[in-house]
Amino acid sequence: MEEGLKAKAELVLGGGVRLPEGFRIPVRVSRSTAGPGAGFGSLVFAFGGHRVKKPVSYGEGEFDLRDDGGSLSLWKGGRLIADGVRIVPVGFHAPEQAFFTIDERCMFRCAFCASPHLDASASKGLTPEKVVGMIRGSEVRDSIKAIAFTSGVVVSVEHTVGLFADFVRAAREAFPDLPIGVEPYVDDPAQIRMLKDAGADEIKINTEAATRDIFSRVCPDLDYDSIPVMLEEAVRVFGRGRVASNLIYGLGETDDDIRRKVEELASMGVLVNLRPLKCSSVNLGNLAAAGVVPERISPERALALSDMQREAFARHGLDPSDSRTMCFSCGCCDLIPLRPSP
Ligand code: SF4
Ligand code: SF4
Repeated sequence: MEEGLKAKAELVLGGGVRLPEGFRIPVRVSRSTAGPGAGFGSLVFAFGGHRVKKPVSYGEGEFDLRDDGGSLSLWKGGRLIADGVRIVPVGFHAPEQAFFTIDERCMFRCAFCASPHLDASASKGLTPEKVVGMIRGSEVRDSIKAIAFTSGVVVSVEHTVGLFADFVRAAREAFPDLPIGVEPYVDDPAQIRMLKDAGADEIKINTEAATRDIFSRVCPDLDYDSIPVMLEEAVRVFGRGRVASNLIYGLGETDDDIRRKVEELASMGVLVNLRPLKCSSVNLGNLAAAGVVPERISPERALALSDMQREAFARHGLDPSDSRTMCFSCGCCDLIPLRPSP
């Protein structure tokens, strides 16, 4: 097992990073509104071909960043986790991507998600024109290799997909050479075609949980049966390997449950992304109400599941290295098989 991947597993599954007193952060701190670091000030750390995004603070953290005359390393309780660490600049949520959350709020109530807890003032009032202007004016403009959009569901699924299409059209027109990814909740195959026609290159439609029972408890407003139908249509429209799907583990499923779901999705041509459950004060109550007993996911389990994911991809001729947008391209929050992060 490659040591860097073990270090990444520990970091992905662990808590935040404490910065040394007086450490001057060399980049802008990213405040995520999507993904596992949502709501915290985060930095992206790169080491040995991997990168990981972690919440940071000067006061506390499970890990410590050490700065020895400009040479950075990450430690856990006096044990070296990774050396040769770099802090990677992030303009918009993910390194080398302009990844926007169109609306952080959501009318649905997935137990693991922070979005339903946000009130009306959480909307940043993004418009397609603003996004284009933000990318053009960004100090990291030259490093941006892709654009992506995610969103909670506001007003209705149909309405939200229409918003996605408006943002994609504007981005496609302004940046004709950049790949564009979208991560919508969809409930009608026509919505998938609409996003492709608007100019999207890749789509992520999340499976969320490995079994019907867990899904019905943690995503009470979403339709378990429609998700594979939407994924199938997405593969038809976008192509094999251009469709991704998050599968969260740590919700009480077995490894066999994960194995079955990974096989089902990979055989359809979907790049399934294994995402460890992150618990925080924001979602703990809702997870408990949904019957989820938070479990400590071990690095060994995460690495074994990642191996199983890699084997499924190989069996079905899928290569996440081809992915150009969103999480497979970013690689900050998961153990992406076959894809060493820059
Ligand atoms: S659909 Fe569920 S996971 Fe997606 S933003 Fe809404 S509450 Fe969160
Ligand atoms: S892996 Fe996905 S959720 Fe995590 S920072 Fe990258 S784009 Fe965001």
